[in-house]
Amino acid sequence: MSKFQILVVEDDAPVRNLITTTLKAHTYRFATAINGNDAVMETASYNPDVILLDLGLPDIDGVEVIRRIRSWSNVPIIVISARSEDNDKIDALDAGADDYLTKPFSVEELLARLRVTQRRLAQMQSAGGNQPVFVNGQLRIDYASGCAYLNGEEMHLTPIEYKLLCLLSQNAGKVLTHKFITQSVWGSSWENDIGSLRVFMATLRKKLEKVPGSPQYIQTHIGIGYRMLRIE
Ligand code: CA
Repeated sequence: MSKFQILVVEDDAPVRNLITTTLKAHTYRFATAINGNDAVMETASYNPDVILLDLGLPDIDGVEVIRRIRSWSNVPIIVISARSEDNDKIDALDAGADDYLTKPFSVEELLARLRVTQRRLAQMQSAGGNQPVFVNGQLRIDYASGCAYLNGEEMHLTPIEYKLLCLLSQNAGKVLTHKFITQSVWGSSWENDIGSLRVFMATLRKKLEKVPGSPQYIQTHIGIGYRMLRIE
């Protein structure tokens, strides 16, 4: 049995059964909750390693559930939402969710998201908090000296490109929304900032990615934001 414990929050029985059957088949341990209040209570008592959280719940809104849990816990939260709830998904990420799955999703997608989260948790535990140097694949960032290296060679980045790279690396594995990124980098989040973000991201990718059209390090989430992927 995996020691990894998952809290499944979903009021829709067929979806909940699909998830729990998958978890059982892959020897994950889990508990379930069918509404938002239960989710908050179970998080406190069951102490899960990750939460799969449906956003459309019968009592309190999933985004509110995230806010309550985030008041005391950093447990990774993967939200599950319907395609019509794109704005909710963005609100959920801004409220502190780590990742998302869109209904209908496949068993493979669910397992892939869990593996990403597991890797991220393992990385966080082995790193033991803030590290002065970040390493991911051929990318190395020395935060103390403010330099980034790719394949052992120093990258020539503008201050904004470097800031973006640091922000993504410090949240590697997590989807960051346009709003979160622009507020972190520019301190504001106007339409213009999001336009500028796209431009800076394109120039950063030209320097970082071997094939900017099929990026290895920075993934685009259309209409949502970006994520730095962990490279094996
Ligand atoms: Ca639901």
